[in-house]
Amino acid sequence: MGNHSEKILELADIIKNSDNIVFFGGAGVSTESGIPDFRSADGVFNTTAGRKFSPEELVSRPCFDRYPEELFSFYREKLIYPNAKPNYAHKFLARLEKEGKLKSVVTQNIDGLHQSAGSKEVRELHGSVLRNNCVKCHKSFDLDYILKSESTVPKCDNCGGTVKPDVVLYGEPLNEFTISQAVSDISNADTLIIGGTSLVVYPAAGFISYFRGKNLVLINKSKTSYDRDANLCINGAIGEVFKEVAEVLGWE
Ligand code: NAD
Repeated sequence: MGNHSEKILELADIIKNSDNIVFFGGAGVSTESGIPDFRSADGVFNTTAGRKFSPEELVSRPCFDRYPEELFSFYREKLIYPNAKPNYAHKFLARLEKEGKLKSVVTQNIDGLHQSAGSKEVRELHGSVLRNNCVKCHKSFDLDYILKSESTVPKCDNCGGTVKPDVVLYGEPLNEFTISQAVSDISNADTLIIGGTSLVVYPAAGFISYFRGKNLVLINKSKTSYDRDANLCINGAIGEVFKEVAEVLGWE
């Protein structure tokens, strides 16, 4: 079992004593799967300097309406990772749900990796690259259709309309039903584990203020403005942290 730090033992203890955990996460949950986040030193925001548009402008609704070529070339290059596999963080959370300890994962990610790890209750605040719909006739398409489309801007094979990923662009509202599920889960949780998110993207980050439970845990590589509000704050890579916790819990 090895020597584990006080914080790892504390997190294992919290998990043992909780049965209504909610996990709230972001891009940092998928960096160990090889998908860059937006704000780390090697994240997407830091590797696109010199472009005509900032990433935030590129993945915005005005850009989709006016410069779809620009949006889709950025999207294809930086936001779609068809070969990425779930990492230990995704698997750990799926197992927590299976054990009846975790109510849901509320995620800002759009990569679908929680579901491929086996999680069932996933509130995708910003949608998913796996779902795509024609803006005109609403026909649905999978990711493969986008990847294989000949033109940069994917066109519907039924009506010729633009096929839009079911991803919330900057300037677009979040899905009301997903918000209400996320807020209800967080409001009723006994433990909220926040991980791999800079907590600067709103309204998503604001949902954690609905938490009224006992244990607020934060696991992130870099500091966030919520570190002081947490009962337990662990600076580290989330997959590695969960691996150690799993060892303490006796999971193989
Ligand atoms: P962010 O890029 O703003 O912040 C990521 C945070 O995770 C950083 O604070 C970083 O220090 C931390 N981090 C990175 N790797 C980590 C690890 N292995 N363990 C622990 N912490 C780690 O991400 P955000 O807060 O989610 O906001 C970015 C927005 O971009 C979201 O709205 C999301 O939709 C989108 N996005 C999604 C993906 C994805 O789906 N995988 C990838 C990039 C961006």
